[in-house]
Amino acid sequence: MQATIIVAGVPGVGKTTVLQELEAVAKERKVPLQIINFGNVMNELFKKRGVEIHRDHMRKEDITLQGKIQEEAARMISKTPGNSTLVVDTHMFVRTNDGIWPGTPRKVLEALDPSMIILIEADPEEVARRRAADTTRYRDSQKLEDAKADLQWSRNMASAIAVLAGVPIQILQNQNGQQRQSAEELLKIIEKRT
Ligand code: ATP
Ligand code: AMP
Ligand code: MG
Repeated sequence: MQATIIVAGVPGVGKTTVLQELEAVAKERKVPLQIINFGNVMNELFKKRGVEIHRDHMRKEDITLQGKIQEEAARMISKTPGNSTLVVDTHMFVRTNDGIWPGTPRKVLEALDPSMIILIEADPEEVARRRAADTTRYRDSQKLEDAKADLQWSRNMASAIAVLAGVPIQILQNQNGQQRQSAEELLKIIEKRT
């Protein structure tokens, strides 16, 4: 059966950057992998419903709608054809207008059925700096204390999910300029687990 790995981390920590490197490393080593960005799938589903919005505005939409689309996205991802390992680029939580909201509530978790959770982290100072420097995105905050709080929330949510799913968590550091090394380490973890 196709194994699914959840790769999560706070906004701006560098998930997508590391996963782009992972794609390249996996290709070089001929390791079959499929990388899916949960936000991309949700954005397409919003579009299908006539809501064409920037990816950073989805989390400010009505929470009931987000919940429906979140679940639909998880079901779609779970039906990805092929039998290579599926790596899902996503979040442990999302800052909505109604509060901090889980990225993988029960039904989403059941649909994805992950075999492990990898949390990408970096120093909070570095996260705040990356958020400020990245002008391609609308970040909620670039403050250091918010980066610290987000890192904490991510671990809190990861623990809850790990208990529910009965799967391990690994924390992967994405240090400054070290995205390639992070991707190499990530590939090793994936190969060992799948
Ligand atoms: P989001 O959750 O919002 O999608 P993300 O975790 O996917 O964010 P990225 O978009 O990959 O984060 O990266 C955020 C910014 O940090 C980008 O400008 C990226 O170039 C930079 N960045 C990522 N990894 C590193 C790194 N190891 N060293 C320096 N800069 C990095
Ligand atoms: P990203 O590019 O990873 O920041 O994803 C863009 C947006 O997609 C996020 O800001 C969220 O609104 C949404 N998103 C991603 N993953 C999830 C998830 N698991 N649950 C709910 N929303 C998500
Ligand atoms: Mg990203």
